[in-house]
Formats: sequence, C-alpha cells, structure tokens
Amino acid sequence: MRKPTIAGNWKMNLDRATALTLARTLREHVGTRDDVDVAVVPPFVWLAEVAAELEGSPLRVGAQNMCAHTEGAFTGEVSGSMLKGVGCHFVVLGHSERRHVYHETDAEIDAKVRRALDDGLDVTLCLGETIEERQAGATETVVRRQLTAGLAQVGKDEIARVTLAYEPVWAIGTGLTATPAQAGEVHQYLRGLAVGLFDDAVAASLRIQYGGSVKPSNAAELMAVDGVDGALVGGASLTADDFIPIIDFAR
Ligand code: PEP
Repeated sequence: MRKPTIAGNWKMNLDRATALTLARTLREHVGTRDDVDVAVVPPFVWLAEVAAELEGSPLRVGAQNMCAHTEGAFTGEVSGSMLKGVGCHFVVLGHSERRHVYHETDAEIDAKVRRALDDGLDVTLCLGETIEERQAGATETVVRRQLTAGLAQVGKDEIARVTLAYEPVWAIGTGLTATPAQAGEVHQYLRGLAVGLFDDAVAASLRIQYGGSVKPSNAAELMAVDGVDGALVGGASLTADDFIPIIDFAR
C-alpha cells in the first residue's frame, strides 16, 4: 500500500514571515497524523528556519534544486550536503522550470540525482511533456527518456528514496489540468517502465505524484485515480486555505 504524498513547491514566493507562519499552520494542522506524507519546498534562504519550525513534526522539507558537485568554485550554487546540513530531507530535481527555463539536460539531472542520494537526500524526480510534445503524440517517448536518464544511476536498493512527479509542462501554473484519464494513463505507463527498469515489487512501491494546477476544486478527482499517489502543488500550496484541503483530500 503506497502512502499518498503531498508536497508544496513554493518556488520563488513568500517572504520570510509568511513562509514561517504557513509552516507553523501546516504543522498544527498535520499534528502527528501519518496517513499522508506532507512536505514543503521553500526557497533556499528560508530552508533552515522552516526546517527548524517543522522539527519534530512529520512534515518534511525539500529543496527546489541543488548542484551536481560536492564543493568548489560554483558561484551561486548550493550543494546537497549544505542542504542536508540545514535540515532538508529531499530535493526536487528536473522540475519543468529547471528543464525549460534554465535548460537543464537529462544528463545534468541524472548527475544531480546521483549526487543527492550520495549526500543523503531523497529525491523527487519531475518529468513531463510540453504541449507540442503531447500534440505530436510524443508524451510516452519524452517521459521514458526523462525517467531512464533520471534513474540511470539509481540502484534497486535506493529506489525507495525516490518519488516521481508526473507534471505535464502545459499544466504547470497555467490553470490547465490533465484530466484524471490523462494523468492515469501516464502514471500507469511510468509504473510499467519501472517494472522493466527494476522489477514488479519496485514498481508497485514507487510513489508517483501528479503535478500541474492542482487545487482544492480538482484534487479529489485526481487523487482518486488509480496510480496517482498524491500531488506536487505549486500555486495552491502558497496559502493554508488552499493547501490544507488538498492535504485532506489525499487522506
Ligand atoms: C509545480 O510547480 O510543480 C506545479 C505543479 O505548479 P502549479 O501547481 O502552480 O501548476
């Protein structure tokens, strides 16, 4: 049985006071319940304080990106061990904004996944097709390429530390959402690929979140889809009023 996992990607939003207040509100709401894994993914500069605020609660803290190198002359970058050092549990890699705005390649994402696991961070690996790729019938080709590259250096014994997030690029921040049927098809396809890359047991235990304009009004129907194990939420994770109902739908 896969436990649902809901993560809020705050992107480059929220000032310090608002971020800490939101973290505290979520902590109070989640309490000690463990029927859903809840996580927040704050901007780098708020990570340490948010992690301190959530210490001792079941909420997990993730980073939005990291460097593929351990240390050195990489101005502007942050290493996995630095993130681990401020209380991060995991890192989101391959987010569509990293792939399409910052032109990160599959090879770079593959290297970051390996480095994150070596640095003691779990990984949320994002994948998804653009609207042009979907219209060209290339959705499966694209997510297969992204999955194969992203997990190229991940061993079977490590896969429990990886969560996938299927996020169609055309649905991120646009208000457009994949239909439950569209999400279900791709989730099923990804799980089938995991059988080939690993085995049946790994595929059955692999958690695959859906992401792309998830909000309180559509969370229930997406969460009800067989094979959708929760959500990676952007815009609707910025306020407790929107994020808490999404957490509650996943339970
Ligand atoms: C995201 O940033 O991963 C995301 C899914 O954003 P939004 O929910 O705003 O579409």
